[in-house]
Amino acid sequence: SKKRKRSPADEGDSKRSKDADTIMLHYDARPEVERVMRQESPIIGLKNFNNWIKSVLFANFCHPALASGSVQRSRLGPKKAPITRGKVLDLGCGKGGDLNKWAKAHISEYVGLDVASMSIDQARQRYESFRGPRFDATFAACDCYGVSISTALDPDKLSTPFDVVSMQFCMHYAFETEERARCMLDNVSRWLRSGGVFVGTIPNSGQLLSRLRDSPNHSFGNNIYNIRTDTPVPSDNELPKFGFRYVFWLKDAVENVPEFLVLWDDFIRLAAEYRLVLKYRKEFHDMFTEFSEHSEFGPLMTRMQVIDPHGDSKMDEEQWEAANIYIGFIFEKR
Ligand code: SAM
Repeated sequence: SKKRKRSPADEGDSKRSKDADTIMLHYDARPEVERVMRQESPIIGLKNFNNWIKSVLFANFCHPALASGSVQRSRLGPKKAPITRGKVLDLGCGKGGDLNKWAKAHISEYVGLDVASMSIDQARQRYESFRGPRFDATFAACDCYGVSISTALDPDKLSTPFDVVSMQFCMHYAFETEERARCMLDNVSRWLRSGGVFVGTIPNSGQLLSRLRDSPNHSFGNNIYNIRTDTPVPSDNELPKFGFRYVFWLKDAVENVPEFLVLWDDFIRLAAEYRLVLKYRKEFHDMFTEFSEHSEFGPLMTRMQVIDPHGDSKMDEEQWEAANIYIGFIFEKR
């Protein structure tokens, strides 16, 4: 495997904890699996379902915000030029797995940041080999929970505000300390326009807590995932608001990586300090119920191989159970 090189995201790493380094190194080490090989994954049904959930969140809640964003015409001239709209900031963008989803909204600009510099290299390569609609894209390595994103970007990238900020399956890593959670929220809100959308997916703290408490060895899961804490879970009034650590394992994806609980009600109150107001929150199973019969998102399930052409799910019971660890949310900036 390729050796990891030092990157700008390493700046300030003396301040970063051992857990934050473990998280970064884990994602840096995960190889990019070719699309064909990907289909061989034992949890491909779950991966496709998670991608469908993100597509629904983006198309249903973010496309309107992008369409009302600033209009840009290409240099081809007004007649031939496609109109592209809207700027997206993807924090914790990983290997750029959502580029295609954003292309479908005909965005004009995308900025993807991640602490894992090898993932950033792969995201850039994915963009360069991309054959879909064109848009400007910038990628940079950045610890988005430790420093201002302005330290990783040219000032012109931040001169007009973003219409959408996206954080997919990554925001919970910020909840190690209050300082990191606040740094993350400042990065989300500062460059988001009023009326812009903050879209995310995170583990469901209510479900995690009740299942950990129900288990005699503070651990739950099945053959494809496991969540455990080192010590028994304290009562609600003794739970720390930040730094409640658990370890997550997901077959063929996440190798016992430390994560941090996002206590939902506290998070809403904290987000409000950054002018972010909750618009939508749902568990993934409930999003499936809400959108699987939808005229656009129902057929999309077949195209994204969540279900096969006969209408049968590609997820077995264990993947379906793992899918509901997560919730999707939408905030609007006031
Ligand atoms: N958002 C992508 C997606 O949905 O495919 C990647 C999700 S992956 C589960 C979590 C990502 O969060 C990893 O790429 C990881 O490097 C990134 N991450 C973790 N801590 C971060 C930090 N402090 N700053 C930026 N990215 C971070």
